[in-house]
Amino acid sequence: MTEWEYAKQIIKKINDHGGEAYIVGGAVRDYVRGTLPDDIDIATSLLPEDVMKLFPKSVPTGIDHGTVTVILDHHPFEVTTFRSEGTYSDSRRPDHVSLGVTLEEDMLRRDFTMNAMAFHDGNVVDLFGGRLDLEAQIIRTVGSPYERFGEDALRIMRAFRFMSQLDFTLADDVRSAARTLGHKLQDIAMERIAIEFEKLMTGPAYRRALTDLVELGIHQYLPDVSKQLVRRVIADRRAPVNAVGGWALFVYHAGDIRWLTPWKRSNALKREAGVLANLFDSGLDTFTVYETDQATLETYLRMTGSTESSDALKRVLPIQSRRELRFDGRDALQVGASGARIKHLLADLERRVVLGELANEEQTLREEAIMWLQREERS
Ligand code: ATP
Ligand code: MG
Repeated sequence: MTEWEYAKQIIKKINDHGGEAYIVGGAVRDYVRGTLPDDIDIATSLLPEDVMKLFPKSVPTGIDHGTVTVILDHHPFEVTTFRSEGTYSDSRRPDHVSLGVTLEEDMLRRDFTMNAMAFHDGNVVDLFGGRLDLEAQIIRTVGSPYERFGEDALRIMRAFRFMSQLDFTLADDVRSAARTLGHKLQDIAMERIAIEFEKLMTGPAYRRALTDLVELGIHQYLPDVSKQLVRRVIADRRAPVNAVGGWALFVYHAGDIRWLTPWKRSNALKREAGVLANLFDSGLDTFTVYETDQATLETYLRMTGSTESSDALKRVLPIQSRRELRFDGRDALQVGASGARIKHLLADLERRVVLGELANEEQTLREEAIMWLQREERS
């Protein structure tokens, strides 16, 4: 069964129990555009506790704002009760959300017309002209962009990320509202901004979105993003193929891995972006191929337009890791190495085996180790 069919099953069950339910948000946008959605969200008139009663396998993943995750055959679906949002006194979170409102009110709280459509029984409910805007490839807010960005400034970043992902343009009033209210991004948690920025960087029209972002002055509210830095990233021929690639381009042009710190990304992502940025600097040689993990190597190859595969490059190496070296710490002790010399000796042998200067054979490595130690003693 496809995701769409599972979603329909959930909707049918809710209908059979007297509730309304629709596929909403990005999935409807993608359906209208004729592309497959990543995930399908459902909105319903039923309250979360009733959704949980109907579906034995469900988890209250965001109960405060009415969301229950329903699991069918291991496929998770977010089912959220129709809700409206109260006033926003801080540009980021509504003061309260009300559950149990109408579909129309639920659509009214959504950011862009293309994201405020609902699907049920073969019909698209389109209250704000989302379809026309999709056809015209224009990003328009539901209602006044000044109000909507004033309520939640993250929507400004979302506008640019959809622009990049869909290669759309911003409606004129959306542009001017972004210019006027961009400063409100300072109230938004960096983690949330970073998620949208990351999606922007991996969209096909990221250069266009970045160009507009700078033109409207939004870069000023992102950490250490100067016009010059953005220009260099845009001019770089290497387009990001994934999130790590996007961050690595910025790190490379900023010239310092510490550039990433204020964005609050995970340590794993920071590490990978740092390795990739260094590869942009150094290029690939045999030892770098050996040292670099396969995923980062693959990102590098795809970004530099190489036709080689990381797998093929790795496969021709004499060894894949230190573990395969036919000489270990114990052998080092046996030939008389001690202390920090053990580490240096192993690193030297490893490097020469990887580069093909030494065969990976016990006898050869032992002899080389003894000679290495003699050289060390003398120096
Ligand atoms: P994607 O395919 O990237 O998941 P999406 O449109 O599903 O895109 P989500 O961030 O998953 O985007 O949000 C789901 C829906 O929730 C949106 O389509 C939109 O209707 C609504 N939404 C999300 N964030 C906001 C926001 N900050 N303000 C208003 N509505 C929002
Ligand atoms: Mg989504």
